[in-house]
Amino acid sequence: MKLLKCLGSYIITFLAYFLLCAFVITVSFLLFFWNFGEIDEARLHFTAIVTFCNVLFITLLFTVGDIIRRRFTVDRPVKEIQEVLDRLTNGDYSARVSESFIAGKYSKFGDIAESINDLAAELSGVETLRADFISNVSHELKTPLAVMQNYGTMLQQPGLPEEKRMEYAKSVSDACRRLAHLITNILKLNKLENQQIFPTVAEYDLSEQVVECLLQFENTWEKKNIDIETDIPDGVRIRADAELLTLVWNNLLSNAFKFTGEGGTVGVYLSTDEKYAIVKVSDTGCGMKPEVGAHIFDKFYQGDTSHATQGNGLGLALVKRVVGIMQGEIGVESVYGQGSTFTVKIRRC
Ligand code: ADP
Repeated sequence: MKLLKCLGSYIITFLAYFLLCAFVITVSFLLFFWNFGEIDEARLHFTAIVTFCNVLFITLLFTVGDIIRRRFTVDRPVKEIQEVLDRLTNGDYSARVSESFIAGKYSKFGDIAESINDLAAELSGVETLRADFISNVSHELKTPLAVMQNYGTMLQQPGLPEEKRMEYAKSVSDACRRLAHLITNILKLNKLENQQIFPTVAEYDLSEQVVECLLQFENTWEKKNIDIETDIPDGVRIRADAELLTLVWNNLLSNAFKFTGEGGTVGVYLSTDEKYAIVKVSDTGCGMKPEVGAHIFDKFYQGDTSHATQGNGLGLALVKRVVGIMQGEIGVESVYGQGSTFTVKIRRC
């Protein structure tokens, strides 16, 4: 389609120049013979000069016409593109080449303008993400720092009862842990997004890995009296980066336990089909509204602010990135108030 358009524009340009030249030459000849017919040999010299002046005049007319045409079809678009590029270079990512310009039918600049607008849109998206990221990170850093500062000040009170001292010290160390967790997650995500992590792919036993990850939450499920349901057949092997996938199972399980109340159930199921090993992590927790579900894989997104103290909204962003790197798939089904099921598919050996 693009080739046809390009070919069409070349043919039109060629025809325009051909007709122009043919017209100028024909008019010159006509004028010459018209004058030649009326004069004698003696005036030949004069007629030649007149004809030459005619040709000169006609050429001048066309040159002026061409200059005016170029002003509108070349100079103006180039100027507009230049202005937009200058604004983009100076960090104004809202700059766009006007729509009417792009709509111009035979203008070759239309394509360039469209590409520039796409580039500007991409840059402004990246800029928004960067600004959001900085404001989110600052906000997430400030919260535990404020907690540490407050409890640190309170710890300095003279004659503080031992019980209070322990309580405040625990709050400080919890805030420290949260901060460390946040920074670790930001660094991991940054590495994953900048392709600085090269997965070390090797064949390993996925069944074993999933069971090991689940067992790490034993204390949590005992404390919250959560029932565990499992269906994990032995010996399902995959070729993937085991360390990165541990991150996936740990995050999904940690969320399942976090969002499931006392006496609920968390299930972990492993199955296979021709292409994939399929891990499902389900819970009978609070579930999500569809509008929350649509954003859970966004960085720093937290569906319910009442849980804000327990996370930083980076876990699922990390999970999604890792699954993407492994060329797998991730999906979620959730019913608000009833629970959620996350399904991860990883290619088998
Ligand atoms: P965090 O758990 O630190 O808030 P995540 O990226 O892990 O961040 O999750 C983002 C959001 O997705 C959570 O704030 C929560 O609203 C929602 N979510 C994730 N897992 C579950 C789950 N199992 N049940 C209900 N909501 C969940």
